[in-house]
Amino acid sequence: MSKILIDSQKFKNNLDTITYHIKDKNKLALVLKDNAYGHGIEQIALLAKDYGIKNVFVKNELEALKIAEFFEHITVLYKNISQQAPKNIHPSINTLEDIQKCDAYRLVELKINIGMNRNGIPKEELSFFIEKILSKKLQLLGVFAHNGYGDELGDDFDNIQKNFSEIKEEVRYLSKKMGFPLPRFHSLSSSGALRSSKIDDDLVRIGIAAYGYLAQNFSLPISNSLKPIASLWADKICEQKLPKGSKIGYGGKSVLKEDSIISTYDIGYGDGLFRVNENKAELKTSEGYPILPITSMDCFSCICQKEKVCVFDDVSLIAKIFDTIPYEILTHLSPFIQRSII
Ligand SMILES: *Cc1c(COP(=O)(O)O)cnc(C)c1O
Repeated sequence: MSKILIDSQKFKNNLDTITYHIKDKNKLALVLKDNAYGHGIEQIALLAKDYGIKNVFVKNELEALKIAEFFEHITVLYKNISQQAPKNIHPSINTLEDIQKCDAYRLVELKINIGMNRNGIPKEELSFFIEKILSKKLQLLGVFAHNGYGDELGDDFDNIQKNFSEIKEEVRYLSKKMGFPLPRFHSLSSSGALRSSKIDDDLVRIGIAAYGYLAQNFSLPISNSLKPIASLWADKICEQKLPKGSKIGYGGKSVLKEDSIISTYDIGYGDGLFRVNENKAELKTSEGYPILPITSMDCFSCICQKEKVCVFDDVSLIAKIFDTIPYEILTHLSPFIQRSII
C-alpha cells in the first residue's frame, strides 16, 4: 500500500530553525489547515504538541475537532463554529454576522483587512467591531491580519506591516479606554516571519516553512536550512515483460524504445499526485526512474522492478513541472494515503 512518511527529525529541525530566527519559542504558532498541508493533521498535531506548540490555526471546525485535545488555543480561520465546540476552539470574526452567531463568553479573534482585500473587517471599523464583541460578552483573544506580500520584494510588505502597527496602537488605546484585556497580535506567515529581523507581534503563524519549504521570489538564506518532511512511497502492483514498441497506458502515449520490464505502482492522480501527460516535462521518482505518461487514477508505470519507489522526498521539482508552488502539490495528497511518522 502506498504511504507518506513524515520525518520527525526534519520537522524538529525546521521548528528549531524557525525558533532560532524568531528568538522566542512561545511566539511560534503552527498552521495545520488543509490536513496540515496534506501531511496528516493528526500526525503533525502530535509532533507539534511534543515540541511544545500551544497555538495552532486550522481552516474549519472539522479540522479543529480532530486535534482539540492537543493544544491550548485552536483558531478556525474561516467561517463559524458550532456552539457545542470545545472552549479552546475559537472562531475568527470577519463580519457582524460572525459575532451574532457566537455564544457568550467564547474567545474570538478579530481579523482586519490590511491590504490583501480578501478577508477581515476594514480597519476604520475596528472600534465598532470591538464594541460589538464586548457587548455580546465575547472575549477578544486576538486581533490579526495577513500580510500577503511576504514572498515578494518591494515596499508593499513593509507598508502593510506599518499599517498593522497602527492597528495595534489603536487596539492598545481602545483597551485602556474601554477596559478590556490587551489581545494577542499576529500578522505574519512563514516568509514574512523569516524575512523579518525582529518580530514585533505576539505570534507568527507558520505553515509551509514547518513542512520544509518557502515560496519567496528572492533569496533568503534561511530557506536552505529547511528540510521537506514528507516523502511519498508507492508499492509495486505487478510487472510486465514487454517487447520494443509496446504501448503503455491510456491512449498508448508511452512507447517502449527497447525490450523492457515495466512495473506499475499504486499511486495515481486520484491519490492527489497530478496527472502526468505526454506534454509535460518528464517527472522522475526521487531515484530517477521516469514516471511514464499518461498516469492513471490509481497507478503509474516505471521502467523499474523495485518493490517500492519513492515518488518524491521534495515536491519543489514537481511543483515546477506543473507550474505551481509546493503548497498545491502537498495539499492535494489524498487523506486516504496512510501517514506514518519515522
Ligand atoms: C495559510 C495561512 C498562513 C500560513 O501561511 P504559510 O505561507 O504557509 O506560512 C498564515 N495565516 C493565514 C491566515 C493563512 O491562511
